[in-house]
Amino acid sequence: ISKSNAQPLSTENAKQLLNSVDAFLFDCDGVIWKGDKLIDGVPQTLDMLRSLGKKLVFVTNNSTKSRKKYAEKFHSLGIPVNEDEIFSSSFAAAMYLKVNDFPREKKVYVIGEEGILEELELAGFTALGGPADGKKNPELKSNCLFEHDKSVGAVVVGLDQYINFYKLQYGALCIRENPGCLFIATNRDASGHLTDLQEWPGAGCMVAAVCGATQKEPIVVGKPSTFLMDFLLQKYNITTSRMCMVGDRLDTDILFGQNAGCRTLLVFSGVVTESAFQDLSKELQVQPEYYTNSVSDILKYV
Ligand code: PLP
Ligand code: CA
Repeated sequence: ISKSNAQPLSTENAKQLLNSVDAFLFDCDGVIWKGDKLIDGVPQTLDMLRSLGKKLVFVTNNSTKSRKKYAEKFHSLGIPVNEDEIFSSSFAAAMYLKVNDFPREKKVYVIGEEGILEELELAGFTALGGPADGKKNPELKSNCLFEHDKSVGAVVVGLDQYINFYKLQYGALCIRENPGCLFIATNRDASGHLTDLQEWPGAGCMVAAVCGATQKEPIVVGKPSTFLMDFLLQKYNITTSRMCMVGDRLDTDILFGQNAGCRTLLVFSGVVTESAFQDLSKELQVQPEYYTNSVSDILKYV
């Protein structure tokens, strides 16, 4: 798609979009909220879309929470959303293992937080690691061999605010030395809004550390992976050409929608400003169909 194809949302094309779409896939951070702060006009916009009979789905690359915790977050912000309308990259990691018949007797080592641990447990898998592992550190003595569990069959890496040298060594050993061990990344976002004021290093940084230590590339299960889209499409019987992906990032959200043949809408309420968008889209060769300041513009135009 050439640069000139991206159009600002207008009264005319917003109406056309609404009439030709049955489902909206919403990215969360930068579209619905920024950190813990709701973006203006979101509840009203979602209410309007529901009243028009549109199916709403929420897709977040932030792996620190489970679907259950995200449903609670939506409710606390005054937005009624069911767990089964939420697809987080933590859930995607557990579903990837399930869909691929990961053996129940094998274990999963997690460099990540509670969201991943909860989803793995709900799916019936045994997890090791997680945030608490951050309290330990390897003893680097010449006579001390660092041991790892040989029954670990997958390493899942997501955002981990407690990452340390021990976890890197543990994950890297599993990937390098356990035959067939999977290396799964929840997402590769370079940064994320852990608070609404500022961006912080994202899961991409932890993933890069494990890539560096193993010289291996991960299977990515969050946006923009086709795994997550295919999984989602199996749950909902919707034609991709009648779906619109709304997001604030080109390299995750818009690419996720575009790869599947969805309509796409980029909003400037998150990480990408309008001027940065013009530069980024040239560099990434990823174009949204439409762009606008925030999702609440949809309300303005219809
Ligand atoms: N990962 C982390 C750790 C984050 O903090 C964020 C945003 O806050 C994201 C990923 C991106 O989330 P989303 O896909 O909802 O924009
Ligand atoms: Ca986002």
